[in-house]
Amino acid sequence: MSQPRNMQDYDKTYAEFQWPHYETYNFSRDVIDRWAEDPNKLALWWVDDHQNEVKMTFREVSEAAQKFCNVLQSQGIGKGDVVILILPRLVEWWVINIACLRIGAVVSPGTTQLTAKDLRFRLQTAEAKCVITNETLAGRIDEVIGECPTVQSRIILNSHREGWLNYHEAMVDASPEFPAVDLGANDNAILYFTSGTTGNPKMTVHTHTSYPVGHMVTGKYWLDLTPDDLHWNLSDTGWAKAAWSSLFGPWICGAALFIHHNDRFDPKQTLEFMGKYPITTFCGAPTIYRMLVLEDLKAYTFPTLRHCVGAGEPLNPEVISVWQEATGLTIRDGYGQTESVLLVCSFPAFEPRFGSMGKPTPGFDVQVIDEDGNILPTNREGDIAVRVKPNRPVGLFKEYWKDPAKTAAVYRGDWYLTGDRAYRDEDGYFWFVGRADDVILSAGYRIGPFEVESALLEHDAVAESAVVASPDELRGEIVKAFVVLAPGYSPSEALVKELQDYVKKVTAPYKYPRAIEFVTSLPKTISGKIRRVELRNMEWKR
Ligand code: ATP
Ligand code: MG
Repeated sequence: MSQPRNMQDYDKTYAEFQWPHYETYNFSRDVIDRWAEDPNKLALWWVDDHQNEVKMTFREVSEAAQKFCNVLQSQGIGKGDVVILILPRLVEWWVINIACLRIGAVVSPGTTQLTAKDLRFRLQTAEAKCVITNETLAGRIDEVIGECPTVQSRIILNSHREGWLNYHEAMVDASPEFPAVDLGANDNAILYFTSGTTGNPKMTVHTHTSYPVGHMVTGKYWLDLTPDDLHWNLSDTGWAKAAWSSLFGPWICGAALFIHHNDRFDPKQTLEFMGKYPITTFCGAPTIYRMLVLEDLKAYTFPTLRHCVGAGEPLNPEVISVWQEATGLTIRDGYGQTESVLLVCSFPAFEPRFGSMGKPTPGFDVQVIDEDGNILPTNREGDIAVRVKPNRPVGLFKEYWKDPAKTAAVYRGDWYLTGDRAYRDEDGYFWFVGRADDVILSAGYRIGPFEVESALLEHDAVAESAVVASPDELRGEIVKAFVVLAPGYSPSEALVKELQDYVKKVTAPYKYPRAIEFVTSLPKTISGKIRRVELRNMEWKR
């Protein structure tokens, strides 16, 4: 195990941690410009699949962002105005984010896979004043622009289009100086959509401190970054995880980003890159790791890699074991939400327990509570909650955009409710059970899908699975598993029986899947999370 850089003693760090307090804050000035004092300090290293490569220092990022602030200002965009930003992993995505933070515009990143209907919803609901994208999405935006009267500026990259300002041309004559605007700690800064795993994505408001300051714990203690690191995070620019692990977390720590712009995830190429570029830290969703461990890992080398993390979904113990055997590194699980920064983590400062997501992040009082807001004793399943009274932790969102009812619904007494279920063991480790909606109630037992899915994954025939409740006259609900088989295996009655027996052996027998259906793929969100809700609804409709 390589020595963690930023936290040696978890208990001590947790006990002593204090959130910094700011009356005003500007990430562009207080973080980017500070690193830019060293003119050579690398901020990002970008490559694509056509031998193109770009390296930018913090100074270059700052100058480009200041130029773009002048462009935004010339377009009538300023403090508080919503800017919708939809770009693949192009360096301009980073420049534009920093520019919006500098001028105080509210940036709302989205994924390039949005449809015209999604775009209309976002532009209208957010009352967006400006939209920035490339040719791929511009057509879809023009389809609905007539119904979005608040949009006064459209900016396009790498092409020309009527009614759109060309980004690169506008940048040519823009001045590289733009003083950072003084922003209140509670002013709106970022509008992120949740992943939409359980329903429609929710528009989540972050302030100039909740993410820009709050992610200091994400970058320092989970990603374990220092100014000497080259950090690679695979997530799409449209999700909050990009803010966590491709923007605020790393840059607060002065680490450089490695960015690979490609059309689709390629496990072989990803593993090759870990040997080809001096990447020191790597962050991927569990779905990514599940695909990586299907490769022949012995065929690759990991000369500079020292730390790996996963987040977004529960991380199956089997995946951690296989990865560890090949690389010598333990994938450190991180738990959190669009609504928050890192909340619970298998920090590198302590021994991991495979399958547990670890312990609360410094700066957060995270507990497992009951219906009345009482903290539950150890080993009792309940709601994962964050204490918000008397002190609200910095790294928590402000509200759901213009939706006081939805915002009020996530509080219970002194607590913010995550909507997830877990229990805590005698040593303080949290064990994720499932999203509250995903927990299965069978013949009086409560069964979390994660444990059953992890048990299935230990069997060689299983590449991936989703476990949901299926209606049953006798038991109310039964455990049903949708299984994607590993290469070389094919469905059979005998295999159903074998998997059932296998799960009975590795977990409490009552949890075994009474029904198994083999499928070729699982329904997922664009960000790669399993949508159990879809399978469950299908079961109940049958
Ligand atoms: P929506 O709220 O729209 O249904 P979502 O909850 O998936 O979508 P995100 O904010 O991207 O949107 O994801 C946060 C959720 O992802 C958490 O509440 C939890 O359910 C799950 N999650 C994230 N990290 C982990 C983890 N390490 N272990 C288990 N679950 C995780
Ligand atoms: Mg959620």
